[in-house]
Amino acid sequence: MRETDLIRVYGIVQGVGFRPFTDRLARRFSLCGSVANKGSYVEIHLQGDSAARREFLIALEKEAPPRSAILRVDVTPVQEPEFDSFRIIESEKECGAIFVSPDIATCPLCKQELFDPANRRYLHPFINCTACGPRLTILEAMPYDRERTTMKEFPMCPECAGEYTSSESRRYDAQPVCCNDCGPELYLVGREERGTEALRVAKESILNGKIIAVKGIGGFHLCCNAFDKEAVMRLRSLKRRPVKPFALMMKDLATIEKHCVISEHLTGLLDGHQKPIILLEKKAQSLLPEELAPGNPKLGCMLPYTPLHLLLFHGEDMPEALVMTSGNVSGAPICRSDEDAVAEISSFCDLILSHSRKILLRADDSVMDTFRGEPYMIRRSRGYAPLPKMLSGNWKGQVLGIGGELKNTFCLGHDSLFYPSPYLGDMEDLRTVNALQESVVRMESLLEIKLQLIACDLHPLYHTTEVAESLGIPLIKIQHHYAHILSCMAENDFSEPVIGVSFDGTGYGSDGTIWGGEILYSSLDGFERVGKISPFLQAGGDASAKEGWRIAVPMIQELFPEHAAEIVEKLNLCTEQERKVLSVMAARRLNTVVSTSSGRLFDAVSAILGICSRSSFEGEAAMKLQFFAESAGTVSVGNLPAPEMQDEVLTMRTDLLVKELIERRLSGESTGILARIFHEKLALMIVETCRILRKRLECNICALSGGVFQNTLLLESVMSRLEQDGFRVLRHHLIPPNDGGIALGQAVAAMKKLNS
Ligand SMILES: [Zn+2]
Ligand SMILES: [Zn+2]
Repeated sequence: MRETDLIRVYGIVQGVGFRPFTDRLARRFSLCGSVANKGSYVEIHLQGDSAARREFLIALEKEAPPRSAILRVDVTPVQEPEFDSFRIIESEKECGAIFVSPDIATCPLCKQELFDPANRRYLHPFINCTACGPRLTILEAMPYDRERTTMKEFPMCPECAGEYTSSESRRYDAQPVCCNDCGPELYLVGREERGTEALRVAKESILNGKIIAVKGIGGFHLCCNAFDKEAVMRLRSLKRRPVKPFALMMKDLATIEKHCVISEHLTGLLDGHQKPIILLEKKAQSLLPEELAPGNPKLGCMLPYTPLHLLLFHGEDMPEALVMTSGNVSGAPICRSDEDAVAEISSFCDLILSHSRKILLRADDSVMDTFRGEPYMIRRSRGYAPLPKMLSGNWKGQVLGIGGELKNTFCLGHDSLFYPSPYLGDMEDLRTVNALQESVVRMESLLEIKLQLIACDLHPLYHTTEVAESLGIPLIKIQHHYAHILSCMAENDFSEPVIGVSFDGTGYGSDGTIWGGEILYSSLDGFERVGKISPFLQAGGDASAKEGWRIAVPMIQELFPEHAAEIVEKLNLCTEQERKVLSVMAARRLNTVVSTSSGRLFDAVSAILGICSRSSFEGEAAMKLQFFAESAGTVSVGNLPAPEMQDEVLTMRTDLLVKELIERRLSGESTGILARIFHEKLALMIVETCRILRKRLECNICALSGGVFQNTLLLESVMSRLEQDGFRVLRHHLIPPNDGGIALGQAVAAMKKLNS
C-alpha cells in the first residue's frame, strides 16, 4: 500500500476536457494514479513525490481548461495499492448535481479564425467552439444538447455537423456551432439590410455619431463612439441618465492600457473567458471625454466578448472605444428580444442591430471593482451566473431565495449547491417583476429543482414578497441585513456565529423601523441586534433616498434646535420653505420613520459637506463623498465618542460625528478633509463597537456586508483595523456586498430551516 491523495474536484468539470488535462498534468510531474468522471465531480488518485503532488494541485487550479470552473477541491490522504502509471478511467456515472455553464467570451482561436480570410468562418458574427460561446442564455433545458437550445432553429450544414461529431475537432459537441452557411443572421430591425450589409450600416452609423442598439449574448446594449462627446451627451439625455457612469468596451488590452491604469494581475481577468466590466482608474492623459463618467476617477471597462463586438471594432476608421451601456429603461431588465427593444429602447437610439439567435435568459454584464488587488464584485451576472456556490456540510433540500427589491437577483439552492441568478434589476418596474417570475420558472426547470421552501424579505410591501407569496410554496421571511450577513458567511463557506457588520441602504427592521447601520450577532439559526448607528428621522419616503438634504435637515434640527434655520441656510441645503415643511413633517411624524440606515447617513453627510445634495441615482452622493475623501489623503482623527447603550443596543454615536462635521464645515474646513474624517471616524466607531462586542459575545470573527461596503475606502479602513486587532474578518469577493447578494443569504436561511 502507498500513500495516495484522493482528490475530488467539484464544479464545471464535465465535457470540458478535464480528464485529458489531468492526465497531461500528472505526466508532467511524473505522478501515477488515475482520473475518473463521477458525474457531479471528477475523482483523482495521485501517487508519487509529495512536493510534486503539491505542485500538481496548484497547477490543477491554475491551468484548468478555459471552459471549466472549479468550485472546490477536496484532498484526503488514503492508502492505495501502487499504480504503475497514470490512467483515465471510463465514466462510471453517478447521479448528482447539475452544472449549467455560464456564457463564455470568444476564445483566442475563434478570434484568430474570425479574421482569417482563408477560414470558412471568416467574419462570421456567431463563430464559437467547445471553449467559447453562449451557454446559459440560449438553454431551454438540461442536458445541454443542441435540440434544447435556441440553436435548434438552425440545422447544421454537413461541414459543421462533421466538426460537431468529430472528437478530433475544436467544435466537438459544441452546441452553438454554426457558420456563414447555416448560422443565425444579423439584420437591422425595421429595415431591409441583412448580414454584412446590416453590419456595415451599423458601423457607419457609429462613425457618424449615431446611437445604435446591439443585440449581444444576454441582451441589448446601447452603443456609440466613446470619443464623441455629443453622442455621449445625447445618449445621456435620451436615457435620462445625467451623470451615472457609462460602461465602455475597448478594442483590445493595449487600448485599455492607453486610457486606464491596470495592474498586471488584472489583465488576465479583463482578457479572460468571463470578460467582466472592471472599474479602472482613468489616466490623466486619456482623451476620453469626462462626460462618460462625470466626477468619477474610474471608468468601467471591458473587452469585446462576442464575435459581433469584435467585428464592430474591425476596420481602421472605427473608434477604439465604444460606450456599451445596458439596453433598458433605467431600473427595468435588459431587453432581450426585438419586441422589447422596439417597445422600450428604440427612442434611445437611431438603429437596432439585431440577430436571429434567440436569448432565453437575460444576462447583463458583470461589474467588478478591485480590493487589495483582487476582484470585488458589484454586479454578478454574465460569465458568472449560474455558477453555484458550494457549501460544506450535509445539506438536503431544494429552496429559493427570491432576493431584494433593488438590484434583484434570486438564488436557487439544491442540497449544498447554491445557484445565484443573473442580474435582473429594480422591482419598482413591473417589467422586472415579470422578468423575475419568468426567470425563476426557467432556472427551476434548467436545474431540475422542485421547491420545498422559499425565503423572502421581511418588508411587507416588496414586490419580491408578492412574487414569493404567489408561488404557493411554504415561505419564510428573512430580515434584510441579516440576509446580507448570511450571504457573506456563505460566500466564505463559514457557519460559526459572527459579529455581522451590515452597513447598507434601507431595509425593513424586525421592530418596524428602517435599519441599515446594524451590527447583528448572527448564526445560521438567527440573529440578535447588538449594535446600530444613532437613529434619525427619515422624512419624505422614497424621495429621501435620492435627496440627502432631506435626511440632513432634520438631523440639524435635532442637533442644533436653536440655530437650525441659520445653519441650513449657511450650508445651502434647501429653501426656508422646504426646511419648514420638513420640520413640520418630522415634528408630527408625517410620512416620517425612525431610521438607522448608514446609506442615508452617507447621503446626509454628502449634502452637509456641500458635495451632493440631490442625486440622480442611488449611491451617487455616497460615491462622491468617497472620491472627495480619497483625494484628501491621510488626516488626524482626534478623539472619538464612545458607543453607548440605547434601547439595549450598543449605539455608535454617529449623531455626534455629524455634529462635529457640521461645526467644522461652518468654520471653513475643507470638504475633502472632512469627508476623510467622516470615513475614518466611522470606521473607528465600528471597530470599537466590535471590540466591546467581542468581549461580551466571546466571538472573534467579523463579517462585513451591505451596499455601503462597496465603498472600498471604508472597507479597507475597517478591515485593516479589525485585522490589526486580531479579528478574523470575512468579506465579499465574488458575491456582491450590495442587495444583489442577499438572495444567497436568504436561500441559505431557507436551507438551514429545512435541515433543522
Ligand atoms: Zn472558441
Ligand atoms: Zn455550417
